[in-house]
Amino acid sequence: MTEIPKNHPRYESLMTREQINAGVDKGMTSRQGLLAQGRGEAFDYLIGEQTIESANYAEAVAVCLLLLAENPVISVNGNAAALAPAELVTLSQLTGAKLEVNLFHRTEERIQKIIAELKENGADVVLGENAEPLLPLEHERAKVEREGIYDADVIFVPLEDGDRCQVLGDMKKLVIAVDLNPLSRTAQSAHVSIVDNLKRALPNMIDMIPEFKNMNEADLWEIVEAYDNKVVLVDAIETIKENLTAKQNEVLGIEKDDS
Ligand code: ATP
Ligand code: MG
Repeated sequence: MTEIPKNHPRYESLMTREQINAGVDKGMTSRQGLLAQGRGEAFDYLIGEQTIESANYAEAVAVCLLLLAENPVISVNGNAAALAPAELVTLSQLTGAKLEVNLFHRTEERIQKIIAELKENGADVVLGENAEPLLPLEHERAKVEREGIYDADVIFVPLEDGDRCQVLGDMKKLVIAVDLNPLSRTAQSAHVSIVDNLKRALPNMIDMIPEFKNMNEADLWEIVEAYDNKVVLVDAIETIKENLTAKQNEVLGIEKDDS
């Protein structure tokens, strides 16, 4: 790993790159995963590299849905496994969601490596090896396990591919996506779109679980039913617009008008 000084202004972002790079070296993350990371970084920059209030709200709703679900599943790809394996396992343990490895650039070797990584981080069972082409898709992401994603009612999909997100929605499954790009097909077609970095979203969601676990189901449903994903997407887009305007004003030397 490249040594990055802690006081580097882009420390967090550069460390995340190193994690993805290490994921490629370990054989878990595809080279295409590096590009997905780059696209994510660009949007994180525009969002301000922080969990915005509307993302925090979407994360809370996501926790409620995972707790309410009959058969929740967390779909894991090579980037997610490289960035937050321990947090994925903790989220699964605290919500009762199954873990399933599902890859766009699927090879059996990568599936095995990701399963091993999740097990090293404390997972008992990880699905994905016995996947069959059950989804109406032309690519490898069609392959899912019958007792996993195929039967799930709620699916948590960090860094999802747009096609599959749409297909899962068509199958009447509730999809929670984590995607820094509020304009992607994934963010636009998920039921709950968390516009945040996976590395910030997961610890935040884990912290919220005890509070929601103490609530009864009717109250959790109330929170879920009040949720409107459009509001969250619009807020993320507005945040990007405001950040761009602030930067533009900085370049032009225009003082912020607080009046
Ligand atoms: P879609 O297929 O949904 O239209 P896309 O083609 O833009 O999306 P992909 O390349 O399929 O995107 O997947 C990468 C997505 O994951 C990007 O939208 C990127 O913003 C997002 N992403 C990358 N890294 C992270 C991260 N650490 N946290 C959250 N989102 C991320
Ligand atoms: Mg895509």
